[in-house]
Amino acid sequence: MKKLIIANFKAHKNLKEAREWLAVFNRETLPDNVDVVVCPAYPLLKAFEGVSFKLGTQDVSALPEGPHTGQVAASQVAEVVDFVIVGHSERRRDFNETDEMVGQKLLQVLANNLNPLVCVSTLDQVKYLKTLKIPEDSFLLVYEPLDAISSELGGHAYSVKDIEKFAREVKKIFKNVPLVYGGSVDMENVAEFSASKDIQGVLVGNASLKAKDFLNMVRVYAVC
Ligand code: PGA
Repeated sequence: MKKLIIANFKAHKNLKEAREWLAVFNRETLPDNVDVVVCPAYPLLKAFEGVSFKLGTQDVSALPEGPHTGQVAASQVAEVVDFVIVGHSERRRDFNETDEMVGQKLLQVLANNLNPLVCVSTLDQVKYLKTLKIPEDSFLLVYEPLDAISSELGGHAYSVKDIEKFAREVKKIFKNVPLVYGGSVDMENVAEFSASKDIQGVLVGNASLKAKDFLNMVRVYAVC
C-alpha cells in the first residue's frame, strides 16, 4: 500500500477558487510513490472531474439512497470519489455525531465499495469500531487528537513519538489497520511523519488550501 497524503478542504473555497487551486496543482506531475487524495466540499467536485489524483468526500449519509432530504448517500458519491472521511471530530462536535452514527456511515461506505477514512481522537472510539466486526483491511484510521487539529484556529501538531504511542495501543485492538495522522500537518513537519513506519499517511487541512504549498508538501512527503 502506498503512503497517502490527503487534503481536507473543509468548508472552504467556491468553484472559482477550486479551479484556480487545480490550475496550480496540476502544473506538475505528481510523484507516483504516494497516493494523493483531495476532499473538497460536494459542490466543488465537478471542478475535479478527470484529475490524475484521487478524490474523497468529507462526510456521507448514515442512510442509504431514499427519501432523506439534504442527505448525500454513499451510493451517490461512489461514482465520483474513491475515499470518504467519516467521523471527523468537527462533525462529532458540531453535529453531535455519535459513535453509532459514525458506525452506520462506515457501513454505508463499505457497502458501496468505497475506502473509508475513519477519524478518531480517542481509543474508546477505536474500541467502538471493533464492535462493528468489519474486516481489518477494509478501512483506514485517521488519528486526529482534538488539540492538534485546526491549525487555522491554533492547533499544534503531535510529535511522531506521541502518534507512535497511540499506534501501539491501536495495534492491541486492530492488528493491521493502517494509521493516518491529521492535525496541523504543514510544510515544516510533514517530513517527520513520512519517516515513521507506523504512519501510513497524513491528512492536511489548513495547509492544503494553497495549491503551491500542498504541492510542495506532496513532494517532500514522497521523498522522505
Ligand atoms: P488541520 O486540519 O491540518 O488544519 O489541523 C486537519 C483536519 O482537521 O482534518
